[in-house]
Amino acid sequence: MANSKYEYVKAFEQPDLLLPNTWIVVRIDGRGFHKFSDKYAFEKPNDRRALDLMNAAAMKVMSELPDIFIAYGISDEYSFVFHKSCTLFERRSSKLVTTIVSTFTAYYVHLWSNFFPDLPLTAPLPSFDGRAVQYPSVQNLRDYMSWRQVDCHINNLYNTTFWALIQNGGMDAKTAEKELAGSLAADKNEILFSRFKINYNNEPEMYKKGSVVFRDYELVEPGTVELEDDESAKTVEEAALSKTQAEKDRKRRAKARITVQHVDMIKDEFWERRPWLLS
Ligand code: ATP
Ligand code: ATP
Ligand code: MG
Ligand code: MG
Ligand code: MG
Ligand code: MG
Ligand code: MG
Repeated sequence: MANSKYEYVKAFEQPDLLLPNTWIVVRIDGRGFHKFSDKYAFEKPNDRRALDLMNAAAMKVMSELPDIFIAYGISDEYSFVFHKSCTLFERRSSKLVTTIVSTFTAYYVHLWSNFFPDLPLTAPLPSFDGRAVQYPSVQNLRDYMSWRQVDCHINNLYNTTFWALIQNGGMDAKTAEKELAGSLAADKNEILFSRFKINYNNEPEMYKKGSVVFRDYELVEPGTVELEDDESAKTVEEAALSKTQAEKDRKRRAKARITVQHVDMIKDEFWERRPWLLS
């Protein structure tokens, strides 16, 4: 096709390729969900329907983008992780982020009425922002996941105590905030237990741990895992064999059931029992 005199504008587009061989995390977050949650009268501190809707939208994103191998959600945010070998959209950051954000938002709106049948969505409609961050090592990636899960725990303990002081203790928000200023985790547990007979340990796992979405197959028994990371020790035949094995694994992975679980990702056990996730 002949070039038009306008074509030169294409050169203003800047490349935004993410580095090869790094774990890519795309985190999205609801815009103004503090207000949004008021508008639809989300139960405080945790509206179960809203979290189930976030999880349902995330599962749809994962089934439409098989390159995502794990995702983690809390509150109005979700982190989607691409394997370091991913080549989707040539690893262009804006393509990856915008596709996830728009797919997630589309499903959030589409599935809304399944979770809030009596509350039709009205403008302004929910929207999400997104960003891509790259992590060069498994340790960095695991620390990222741990960071989000610790955040979930800290926020949930705070919010559970804050709302107990208001809902069961009759305080107003300002007084509750003052009461909790500078308090440690142990203090909050103590307030919950001594004043409201709430044992924080018995709160729902979904609220305490957040939601981990991943492709599941058979668990490996604890203690039987051998992590293989010495590629150089393999012969040519072994390498070829592991290549067909990798192809088989890829197909199995695409077919695997997507599940959402409220489990600890900070300890080694979660990853050791599911070696396919980081291999
Ligand atoms: P921003 O646009 O900067 O992200 P925001 O209002 O969305 O602002 P966040 O820090 O993202 O602020 O916090 C999201 C807020 O949405 C929470 O503080 C909480 O008030 C509310 N929220 C989200 N999910 C739920 C839920 N499942 N149940 C109750 N409240 C929720
Ligand atoms: P990619 O995911 O790479 O963008 P694509 O299939 O969306 O792939 P585009 O180059 O974006 O390819 O082209 C969009 C295509 O969608 C058009 O070539 C056309 O076939 C179709 N299309 C879009 N809008 C219309 C429309 N209003 N009427 C008919 N066809 C349309
Ligand atoms: Mg934000
Ligand atoms: Mg938000
Ligand atoms: Mg948020
Ligand atoms: Mg087009
Ligand atoms: Mg297109």
